Amino acid sequence: MPREFEDTKVIMGAIDGVHVWPVSNHKDLRGRLFKVYTDGPYPSFPENFETFEHFFTESKEGVFRGMHFQGAPHAATKVISIVRGEALDFLLDTRKDSKTFAHVQTQALNQDSPVSIYIPEGVAHGYIALREGTIVSYRQNVAFCESCDGGINGSIVENLLPIPLKETIRSERDLHLKEFASFSYTSKCSQ
Ligand SMILES: [Zn+2]
Repeated sequence: MPREFEDTKVIMGAIDGVHVWPVSNHKDLRGRLFKVYTDGPYPSFPENFETFEHFFTESKEGVFRGMHFQGAPHAATKVISIVRGEALDFLLDTRKDSKTFAHVQTQALNQDSPVSIYIPEGVAHGYIALREGTIVSYRQNVAFCESCDGGINGSIVENLLPIPLKETIRSERDLHLKEFASFSYTSKCSQ
């Protein structure tokens, strides 16, 4: 459970355009079958989405990844799903013209009651893995573009983490991401 939330730097609440839907999870004596994505639109997922690439992250317990997004001109929309393990997922609205700008939405991810999350352009995403070997699936609608790769320091959600941020395992890149307060996105892309 997150530590007591005090000295808040963010606004907690649902982010406009984010959709979370439960995943069917059929268990039998062999194991389980779970369908993380079906082409929409349907009520919990009313958007059109085409997968360009599909990849997975596997994380040790205590890994924090984020907060990541891919901005214009190659802005990415994602659908993420829990595959194995358990994580606490964070979404941050970086769209200045959004009515939920600066809102943070959290979502528990657990293999026993799995969900998928639709993450629109301009919403940064991150999570902390709460179990060893946690696997998260990412579908993205465009190719990865390093020059349009944006990120915000995980300190934005540190008060929501079950362990101190400095005790999490983070990449060098994530450690040096800018704070949200001083963040402004610019693409290095020539196209
Ligand atoms: Zn680009």
